[in-house]
Amino acid sequence: MKLKNTFSLGLIFFLFSNYVFLDKEVNVYTSRHYDSDAKLYEDFTKESGIKVNIISARGKALIERLRSEGENSPADILITVDSGNLWKVQDYGLFRSIKSSLINSVVPKNYRGENDEWIALAKRARVIFYNKNKYSYEDLKKLSYEDLDSREWQNKLAIRSSNNLYNQSLVASLISRYGEKYTENWAKGLVKNFARKPQGNDRAQIIAVANNEADLAIANSYYLGLMLSGKKGEKQLSAGKKVNILFPSQEKNGAHINISGAGILKSAKNYENAIKFLEFMISEKAQKHLVENTYEYPINSKVKPSPLIAQFGLKFKEDSIKVSEFGKYNSAALKLMDRVGWQ
Ligand code: FE
Repeated sequence: MKLKNTFSLGLIFFLFSNYVFLDKEVNVYTSRHYDSDAKLYEDFTKESGIKVNIISARGKALIERLRSEGENSPADILITVDSGNLWKVQDYGLFRSIKSSLINSVVPKNYRGENDEWIALAKRARVIFYNKNKYSYEDLKKLSYEDLDSREWQNKLAIRSSNNLYNQSLVASLISRYGEKYTENWAKGLVKNFARKPQGNDRAQIIAVANNEADLAIANSYYLGLMLSGKKGEKQLSAGKKVNILFPSQEKNGAHINISGAGILKSAKNYENAIKFLEFMISEKAQKHLVENTYEYPINSKVKPSPLIAQFGLKFKEDSIKVSEFGKYNSAALKLMDRVGWQ
């Protein structure tokens, strides 16, 4: 009899805990494709008792999916890269405001949507790479994005194609600051300076500089961390060792900063859990894990970037332009790049 009672109590407890466990979940659509993220989500579940359900795909596919699912979407959160993407989702009216004083105290205003529709989880700088054998820091330290249209750099620049969002955001930031006319003239000069027809990803541009196929490359900072980590193989490791980072426009507006970030969807059925998830993602513990694996810069100022990327300097000036501007001027940037023949 006693045994039976214990058994039924146990059964009731099991059903109850299971019910509570199942009730607490958060559904995340993410375009981040790092195995290391799984560990992060496990830690969150351990801390909060909230289960994390992940659907991962490319950013564009996830955004299409969210649009077609609309109100019926099971997603609570979208995580993606480039503020241009986040802005697009905001523009489609799919995000709701993130109300958390903790998040507001950690994530600076210029790294959030206009009404806190999305927030940055990490930062990346779009910087200049040069070959250490060819230039010294002293040679280049005054260089700004604005100078890259100069004849001095004819046939010397490596940069990927205009269908890349990172480049669109860089051009959009110039449009926002200087207007279309100035930026179109600049882009015309820039295209004339291309060492080759745009090809490959950001790492391919850095490799071109390492191999002396170009003098300067424009690419995101974390890719050098990735190459130096050895995760991309011996060839990329030795190419990475040949180059250095120059943070452009230090005497002007500072280096162009973009973000990876997240927003909570209007369709979210687990809004409170989603807030807890995002608060966890900007915590010191999660940020440390994030930047050690992606080589991005942390959004939480109490955390230091990975030494692999910190060695290139931490005290550089960041462009303080609101990253939401990149989305606002994205279509103008695309058309402009097309007009100047940026393939
Ligand atoms: Fe990237």
